[in-house]
Amino acid sequence: MRRKLVAGNWKMNGSLQSIFTLMEGLKAGASSITGSDIAVCPPAVYIPKVVGLADGSAIKVGSQNICDQDSGAYTGEIAGSMLKEAGCQYAIVGHSERRALYGESDALVAARFAAARRAGLTPILCVGELLEERENGTTEDVVARQLDAVIDLEGVSALADAVIAYEPVWAIGTGKTASPEQAQEVHAFIRNKLAAADATIAENIVIQYGGSVKASNAAELFGMPDIDGGLIGGAALQADEFLAICDAAQ
Ligand code: PEP
Repeated sequence: MRRKLVAGNWKMNGSLQSIFTLMEGLKAGASSITGSDIAVCPPAVYIPKVVGLADGSAIKVGSQNICDQDSGAYTGEIAGSMLKEAGCQYAIVGHSERRALYGESDALVAARFAAARRAGLTPILCVGELLEERENGTTEDVVARQLDAVIDLEGVSALADAVIAYEPVWAIGTGKTASPEQAQEVHAFIRNKLAAADATIAENIVIQYGGSVKASNAAELFGMPDIDGGLIGGAALQADEFLAICDAAQ
């Protein structure tokens, strides 16, 4: 039986003051969320602070990115071992903003995925199509290509310790959510694709949906059979809204 995971991607938002307030709010409500897992992914510089603030609660912490290399002359990058030591459990890889704004290729995303596993972190692998790709009917090709980059590098067994986040790019930060049926269709495609290689991994892997999830649409999305929680951007910045989404996942 899969346990749903709701993870907040704070992106490049916040300050010491605002993360303190957000974490106080999340901690106060998190004790009533026992039926699903909760994680937050702060900007890297705040990770140790957030890990400290989360202490004593069930809130797990993740990074928004991770270097594909383990150490050395990679200015500006952060190694998996450092994230692990700072208290992270998860590492987001391949977020569409990284792919689009910083030119991360499928191959680099796969290498970051591998680095997360080497460090003992659970990668949250983001996949998803652009609006034009949905409109020209290539959603499944795009998602398959993004998954295959990881499977070709690491083997399908690597997905036993991973989370997938299906995030249609046209739904991220736009207020346009995929309908539950649209999302379910792609989630089922992902699970069926994995099942062709390994039925147990396919059955057990958590596949989150991301893209303008709010308290008002979360229950409908999470009610679909292959949607196992969400990766939440904007709505993760307010404790009450995020907790209501976590509650919908229970
Ligand atoms: C995201 O950044 O992963 C995301 C889904 O953002 P939003 O919820 O704001 O669409």
